[in-house]
Amino acid sequence: KAKEAGKNNCQFYAKGMSASAVNFLLLENDLRRGIDQNQLVLHYQPQVDLATGKLIGVEALVRWQHPERGMVSPMHFIPLAEETGLIVPLGDWVLKEACHQQQSWLGSDLDVPKMAVNLSTRQFRQKDFPGKVAMVLRDTGLPAQYLELEITESCAMEHASETINQLNQLNQMGLSLSIDDFGTGYSSLAYLKRFPIDKLKIDSSFIHDIPLDQNDAAIARSIIGLAHNMQLTVVAEGVEQEQQVQWLRENHCDQVQGFLFAKPMSATNFKAHFNAAGEFDFNANVVALKDF
Ligand code: C2E
Ligand code: MG
Ligand code: MG
Ligand code: MG
Repeated sequence: KAKEAGKNNCQFYAKGMSASAVNFLLLENDLRRGIDQNQLVLHYQPQVDLATGKLIGVEALVRWQHPERGMVSPMHFIPLAEETGLIVPLGDWVLKEACHQQQSWLGSDLDVPKMAVNLSTRQFRQKDFPGKVAMVLRDTGLPAQYLELEITESCAMEHASETINQLNQLNQMGLSLSIDDFGTGYSSLAYLKRFPIDKLKIDSSFIHDIPLDQNDAAIARSIIGLAHNMQLTVVAEGVEQEQQVQWLRENHCDQVQGFLFAKPMSATNFKAHFNAAGEFDFNANVVALKDF
């Protein structure tokens, strides 16, 4: 009898659960195992100074090297990780790995000025997060000035007064802070001016159709003006075309990041882009099959 009931229960759940919920559970277990079994990897995307054309830093972007699915994009597992809380161990791993990598580049003859790491909301809201960062810096031996942390505009603006506290502690440690995906959330300028940040990153959705789209151009120009009036550096994300670069240069954007310059790449491929003088060569002919 009990067996029958169990069987019925099983059927009930199987029928009552949507395909996506089942998928979600499978993926959650998979991701938990993936974190434990070192299936995560970081790729690094160069950031370029528009005036000099030089490498000014890299952004670490996580990928999941899944044994059956192949390379999985963070867009497919960061939201899941955020929802399940797995983002905390995942984020801890990313921070440690990125700092470790940056520290080893510092000790090499490759000139990589800064490492930017993305934070998720849940990770950033942890009470002891600044303490965690301090511990990672100490353990990896990376001086704080080589680390930049990115939080999205929507993360920053939700519970903005707590954001100020958290950012102040991080700023006092001597690292840099930037607001990612700027323009896609609802910014309160009253709060923005109280954040001890260094950089605004213009979301790629505003860059995509410039210079043709007048509205996007107006928005991008406004963000550049806002940033400069607040003594902040401004970066354009998702730059894919030469015309966009030209427009951004004419409109005094400081830095760019995008496929036109370089895709995110493994540490090995990144290293292959450096010339004998230790400078990053954007035109280096490197075969990077698995990078995306
Ligand atoms: P993001 O932080 O805004 O990162 C920029 C995204 O734009 C990256 O996608 C990058 O590969 C992509 N991108 C860069 N240049 C271009 C371009 O010219 N054209 C196009 N179409 N795309 C470009 P990716 O690596 O898939 O990451 C997506 C998002 O996932 C990131 O957006 C970030 O929000 C999140 N993410 C990635 N790694 C991490 C991580 O370690 N921790 C957390 N919390 N989030 C992460
Ligand atoms: Mg980012
Ligand atoms: Mg500062
Ligand atoms: Mg972004």
